[in-house]
Amino acid sequence: MSRKIAIIGGGWYGCHIASSLMALGFSVRLFEQNDRLLHEASGNNQFRLHLGFHYPRHATTRIQSRDGFSRFLERYGDLSRPIEENIYAVPRRTSLLDFDTYKLIMTATGISYKTVDQCGADLREIEGMILAEERVILIEKARHYFSAHLRQALSLSVRIESVEQTDRHVLVNGERFDYMVDATWGHFTPVPIQTFFEPTLLLYFEAAPNLPAVTFVDGPLYSIYPTEEPRVYTLSSVPHTPLGRYSSSAEACAARDSVNSDLIRSKLELMVNQACENVTYFHDQYRFLGPQIAIKTKPIGGSDDRSCYVGRQGRIFSVMSGKIDTIFFATERILSMMEADSDGPSQDIPSSLLANIRAKTVQIGMDIGG
Ligand SMILES: Cc1cc2nc3c(=O)[nH]c(=O)nc-3n(C[C@H](O)[C@H](O)[C@H](O)COP(=O)(O)OP(=O)(O)OC[C@H]3O[C@@H](n4cnc5c(N)ncnc54)[C@H](O)[C@@H]3O)c2cc1C
Repeated sequence: MSRKIAIIGGGWYGCHIASSLMALGFSVRLFEQNDRLLHEASGNNQFRLHLGFHYPRHATTRIQSRDGFSRFLERYGDLSRPIEENIYAVPRRTSLLDFDTYKLIMTATGISYKTVDQCGADLREIEGMILAEERVILIEKARHYFSAHLRQALSLSVRIESVEQTDRHVLVNGERFDYMVDATWGHFTPVPIQTFFEPTLLLYFEAAPNLPAVTFVDGPLYSIYPTEEPRVYTLSSVPHTPLGRYSSSAEACAARDSVNSDLIRSKLELMVNQACENVTYFHDQYRFLGPQIAIKTKPIGGSDDRSCYVGRQGRIFSVMSGKIDTIFFATERILSMMEADSDGPSQDIPSSLLANIRAKTVQIGMDIGG
C-alpha cells in the first residue's frame, strides 16, 4: 500500500520533495499557507543556481552545490538559463582572502573556471577575477511548472497549526499521514542545527541587457546578478542586506512586515555607494526599481555554511535547506531514512566466509590443513 506523506511548505524544497515522492508512487499532500507556490524565500532571492564559487569558507557547501548544479540541469534544465558573462572578483583591500588562495580552493573542489584579465564590467581595485559558469533560475516558469505538475497534491491557502504523533501515524491538522516533511525552512518546527532568522533586503535595478554578473568574494562584499527579466538585476550586499537577527519566526516576520520606505532609502544609498567602490559605471547605468524583502534562515557560525541538513523526530522530517541546488540532497536523505524503517531492525547474520573458503579448497583438491 502506498505511504501517505504530508509536506508542509510550497517553496523549492516542498515542491521538489513532493514531485520526487509522487514519482516514486507515494501518496502526497502539499500544504502551503499562501495562495501560490514559491511565494516566500524561494520566490524572493538572488535566483542564482550556484556551483560553489560563492563559498570558499565551506567545503560541504561547495561540494553539494557542485553536484546539485548538474542534477538541477538534468531535472529542471528548462527552469534556468545560462549567463553570458559571470565574473567572481577578489577585491584588493576588502576581501578576507587573496586571489591565489581563492583559485586554489575552487580548483581543489573540482569546479572549473577561467582566469581573465578583463571583463565587460569596468572594475577597479581588483586583485584578480575568474569567469565561471552559473545560471539564473527562472522563477515564474518554475512556479507554473510546479503548479501544473503538483496540481492534484496541492492544498493552497492552508496553514498547518497542529501536528500530533501516534505510534504509527502523524496527525497533521487532524488528518492522518504515515510521515510528515516540514519544508518551511524552520518556520513551523525546529530544524536540526542551530539557526536564527534574518529578514533581508535585496534591491532590483534596471540596466542594459546582458551586463555581466559580478560577485565580489570573500567577506563583507556584494554582488550584482541578472534575473529572468533581461533588463532587471538584483544587488545584494553582505553587510547591508540583513535587517536584523531573530530567534523566532514570528519576530522575524514582524520585522519584515515593518520595513518602510525610509529604511529602504537609507539602505539604497549604502548599497549603491558600496557597488561604486568597484563597479565604476554602477551609478550611471543602473536605475533603482524597487525592493525585494524576504526572510533567510541562517546557521549560527562564521564559516558561511549553506549546506543542507535533514533531521528526524519519529515520523516527522525537518529540512534545513541549503540553497536551491541542495533539493536533491534533502530528498535522498528523507528517502533513505524511510527505507531504513521498512527494512526493520538489522539482524546479525553469522558469517559463512570460512566455510566457503574451506569448500573451495576441498573442491580444487588443495590440502591447506588447520
Ligand atoms: C536574500 C536571499 C537571497 C538568496 N539567494 C539565493 C540564490 O541566489 N540561490 C540560491 O540557491 N538560494 C538563495 N537563497 C536561499 C534560497 O532562497 C533558499 O534556500 C530556498 O528558497 C529555501 O526554500 P524552502 O522551500 O526551504 O523555503 P521557502 O521558500 O521559504 O518555503 C517555505 C514555505 O513554507 C510555507 N509555510 C511556512 N509555515 C507554514 C505553515 N505552518 N503551514 C503551511 N505553509 C507554511 C511558507 O509560506 C513558504 O512558502 C537566498 C535567500 C535569501 C533570503
